[in-house]
Amino acid sequence: MKTATEARVIFRKLAAQHPNANTELHYSNAFELLVATILSAQTTDVGVNEATPALFARYPDAVALAAADPPELERLVQKTGFFRQKTRALIGMAQGLVSCHGGQVPAAMNDLIELPGVGRKTANVVLGHALGVPGLPVDRHVLRVTNRIGLAQSEDPEVVEQQLGGILPAHKWTVASDTFILHGRRVCKPKPMCDRCAVRDECDDHRRGAGLHHPAAPARPRATTRRSATQPRSSKT
Ligand code: SF4
Repeated sequence: MKTATEARVIFRKLAAQHPNANTELHYSNAFELLVATILSAQTTDVGVNEATPALFARYPDAVALAAADPPELERLVQKTGFFRQKTRALIGMAQGLVSCHGGQVPAAMNDLIELPGVGRKTANVVLGHALGVPGLPVDRHVLRVTNRIGLAQSEDPEVVEQQLGGILPAHKWTVASDTFILHGRRVCKPKPMCDRCAVRDECDDHRRGAGLHHPAAPARPRATTRRSATQPRSSKT
């Protein structure tokens, strides 16, 4: 595992390669970002951004969304996939906001993850981007990139969140997550483009040659793994 000093150098190089990293979801307040992030599960941010203008116009706040007619809401979110599950989560989340938080999005992890459809990743996105609370969302890109580099050693998002949180300053958590996500989308893809990578000299996988994705390369031992790839994902993200 990298030290905090090494992590700072790596983050600085990645931030230079991906300047102004930020969420690509469109929103104007914490409620809208919470809705958009719930919708972003298993689909692209572009697809969510196509659906949300009409959704936010029809349901501008938690009170309106809590009283939504499910078939009407399903039609508005249909193109984002898993639309029945997402409709249930959105209405349940909004009802939770109305009944427990006066219709406002709470600025605390423990309150957010009590809401239907809201897991740590979603909560961290909203905390970090819309509520000014340090949040470190860990998605599949963050998992892949940070494990390869050696900033983390686990396939469990919560463990990786703790590991990264221990070596990165809190005020950088959210932008670091955004930067790792962009790096995972653009460079450190499942088949990595190491020749274009700003941190190849620091990357553990690249040093071992695994970054070249030799098919016979042995898998690196991981630390605590709570969920295997074959186990179903939680409906909370
Ligand atoms: S050197 Fe390769 S494997 Fe390592 S972070 Fe960069 S792209 Fe990913």
